[in-house]
Amino acid sequence: MTDADGDVDAREGGGDPRDCLPEDVAAVQDALVSWYEDDHRSFPWRETEDAYEILVSEVMSQQTQLGRVETAWHEFLEEWPTVHDLAGAPRSEVVGFWTGHSLGYNNRARYLHEAAQQVVEEYDGDFPEEPDELEELMGVGPYTANAVASFAFNNGNAVVDTNVKRVLYRAFSVPDDDDAFETVAGALMPDGESRVWNNAVMELGGVACEKTPKCDEAGCPWRRWCDAYESGDFTAPDVPTQPEFEGSRRQMRGRVVKALSKHGELPLDKLGPRVRVDYAPSGEYGRDWLRELVEDLVDDGLADVAERDGETVVELRA
Ligand code: SF4
Repeated sequence: MTDADGDVDAREGGGDPRDCLPEDVAAVQDALVSWYEDDHRSFPWRETEDAYEILVSEVMSQQTQLGRVETAWHEFLEEWPTVHDLAGAPRSEVVGFWTGHSLGYNNRARYLHEAAQQVVEEYDGDFPEEPDELEELMGVGPYTANAVASFAFNNGNAVVDTNVKRVLYRAFSVPDDDDAFETVAGALMPDGESRVWNNAVMELGGVACEKTPKCDEAGCPWRRWCDAYESGDFTAPDVPTQPEFEGSRRQMRGRVVKALSKHGELPLDKLGPRVRVDYAPSGEYGRDWLRELVEDLVDDGLADVAERDGETVVELRA
């Protein structure tokens, strides 16, 4: 399928999923990492690089709301501060803690205890750093192994969970196919940056690209590249019907951002027809309407407006 600008819809092609990647991958990476580093939800396990502490947080978060995990995590680590302490604890006490804090299946407590014993017996208390080796620990699946390798050792692969799939599907029209998601997620991750990258991309899916997206409210750093932001179609593999959102205004903003990223700066009257086919300088959808739309983007720090040779010129903020 080809859109009005002659772009091929990557989902229709059936070709190499890398074709979905935006041209300037480095700019996409920088935008996301800066957005994340600027401001993000704070969880105590994001402040540590201790593999044991991270493993405990990951196992606890599998079934429990993050707010509740925070209290349990602190208390668990007070009780068993190191992997040696946990390995030496009676299993019934660990299971008792789990039940007492409503942390879901007790088997997770048993597995965690057993994994601690494995680390002590097989690795002398030092966690292995490779995702494959971590996966050998009791109860540790590929996702958890990768999370520990990333957050403790900055040594993981790109995380691909439901949130990440939703983001990639919307932003870059990645086909709903696990291999395609893996390929694109891996190609987007900056080399050797799994700690910050996986945190950032999961934050994007958690606070901006939720099922009902908050593109503008959350200041999504990918708006200028995002296909869904431009088209207004926010469906996704886990969002089969169009979620409610601001409506066409967001779609129009998306088109302004896309036109400016493609053409650089544009005078209002050249920008207008790229946003609405019925743009007419003094019509209902004319300069006043467009200027208001653009002012919103200026307020959001996305665009700049300048007067040049009697024309109003708009460009994306660098
Ligand atoms: S612009 Fe909106 S839809 Fe696109 S990635 Fe950002 S939050 Fe998701």
